[in-house]
Amino acid sequence: MPFWAGSIDDVSRPAFRSVAQTLADAWTEGENVHHLFAGSPHSRPMLYAYKFDSRGFHVALKTPEQYEESLRKLNFKLYLQGELVDTPVDHPMIRPSMNSVKATYELAQDPQYETLMTATSHLTGKKINRFTHLHQSTQDLVNKVKMQRLLGQKTGSCFQRCVGMDACNALDTTTFEMDQKLGTDYHKRFEAFLLKVQEQDLVVDGAMTDVKGDRSLAPSKQADPDMFLRIVERRADGIVVRGAKAHQTGALNAHEIVVMPTIAMGSEDTDYAVAFCIPADAEGILYIYGRQSCDTRKLEGGDIDVGNKNFGGHEALMIFEDVFVPTANVFMCGEVEFTGMLVERFAGYHRQSYGGCKSGVGDVLIGAAALAADYNGASQASHIKDKLIEMTHLNETLYGCGIACSAEGTKMASGTYQIDLLLANVCKQNVTRFPYEIARLAEDIAGGVMVTMPSEKDLQNPQTAKYVKKYLRGVASVPTETRMRILRLIENITLGASAVGYRTESMHGAGSPQAQRIMIARQGNLAKKKELARVIACIPDPERTSPQATTNGSTSNGSAKNGSTPNGSAEADAEKVSSRSKTAAN
Ligand code: SF4
Repeated sequence: MPFWAGSIDDVSRPAFRSVAQTLADAWTEGENVHHLFAGSPHSRPMLYAYKFDSRGFHVALKTPEQYEESLRKLNFKLYLQGELVDTPVDHPMIRPSMNSVKATYELAQDPQYETLMTATSHLTGKKINRFTHLHQSTQDLVNKVKMQRLLGQKTGSCFQRCVGMDACNALDTTTFEMDQKLGTDYHKRFEAFLLKVQEQDLVVDGAMTDVKGDRSLAPSKQADPDMFLRIVERRADGIVVRGAKAHQTGALNAHEIVVMPTIAMGSEDTDYAVAFCIPADAEGILYIYGRQSCDTRKLEGGDIDVGNKNFGGHEALMIFEDVFVPTANVFMCGEVEFTGMLVERFAGYHRQSYGGCKSGVGDVLIGAAALAADYNGASQASHIKDKLIEMTHLNETLYGCGIACSAEGTKMASGTYQIDLLLANVCKQNVTRFPYEIARLAEDIAGGVMVTMPSEKDLQNPQTAKYVKKYLRGVASVPTETRMRILRLIENITLGASAVGYRTESMHGAGSPQAQRIMIARQGNLAKKKELARVIACIPDPERTSPQATTNGSTSNGSAKNGSTPNGSAEADAEKVSSRSKTAAN
């Protein structure tokens, strides 16, 4: 029977326990005891109960309204344009970004998107939001990319929730392998955290990027030791950390932060090899909001000049002023040899993510460019059609890479699936280029009026409205305001507030282009490709010295003759070339 008990908060801890016990007793056979949660030591006590669907299964999904309400209860210390902000949710420059995250809750409630937006928890068997899920198959990886494209199409912006999902998947496999090798209990701690995230349907922000100071120096060699986040004190009950994380996507729309190291580290950097989770409003965390192009248009009260009135993204500088992290929340503490693994895996997942979200926003931009051409009366021009084809080709290539690295994913030791790292890096390398070309073509089609037209206030002022309406009109059947709206949307994505996500973030988010080229070089298996060429060209194997082996221009087992390597068939060779990330992952 459908049932909703809602949430009970702002109760003292003893009172919470008492309420929890009462409900646990009342709610049958103890099944629900498992589903009652207190907040972590840094949070207010909170109690959640879950809805049962018609089949009697339970789900752990917040409604969009509950999500917004839960954010209001957090005590962020946030500065925006030099001022402290009381309630980020209600700030006109922040709210569109909250709406984008809220869309991840809205679509999860919509039956038509159930397959993409929800998944079954491997921990509890419950229906959960896919953003809190660990990928249990290649189909999960594919569905993740499809979900991201869908959200890009619905919001035309960065919806922010992917970073935490990618961080959790990377932490799962890494902590599991750390425990296997070191005998630690990091994975158990991580699973307890993940359970809370799934049960409370929380937004997690993944905080990786340190401010880095002098890029030529290791963390411990910096003039200022706080250029990379570090442990400044080790206590019996936890650690104290200091430093900052830059470009934190959606941080003010998150409940929890997962902090990870930003680079592979050496033995001199043990204090910097640290990973943990912490409530986003924990004592000692300070945020400084990042500016975006045209951001103050959101303060003007209109809805045309902003380009995308309802949705957006945000980034913030996150500062840790000697923040205490309890031992139970720590997932890495000095194990430098695992920093590279964690960074590489997180980056791989997020490079996959871009194949979804950027193609979704690309769909919106292509549609906007096509409408602009319709409104200009240029849609039948062959060069316009060709430009739209080129934009579509580039956009689908991005998506294809996201799908490919998912379909080629492999099961890791923990049971979670990881993308093919080479294909994920190829995906992101394309993302550093194609959105720029798609944006260039959109600007080409839109025309210069996109950046020179008057404001919407001139459209409203009777003194100027008649001229704006008359002289900015394209085809007679389309009102000037309609044309202005689509041009402002193109402006928003290509050089306004959403260009942060669609352009510069495409370049630098999830690692700058050179980071992918390093991974492509590492994963590309050039030696194997040389071997393929050598065999087909009937060149003797230089490693085989037997005169017998080289007389016939073949290897000792005659493999050159049939086009395969000494060890097996051509099919097996192809498998080895495409399975480099399995090798790397293991
Ligand atoms: Fe998600 Fe894309 Fe934003 Fe990253 S840039 S958080 S993948 S929407």
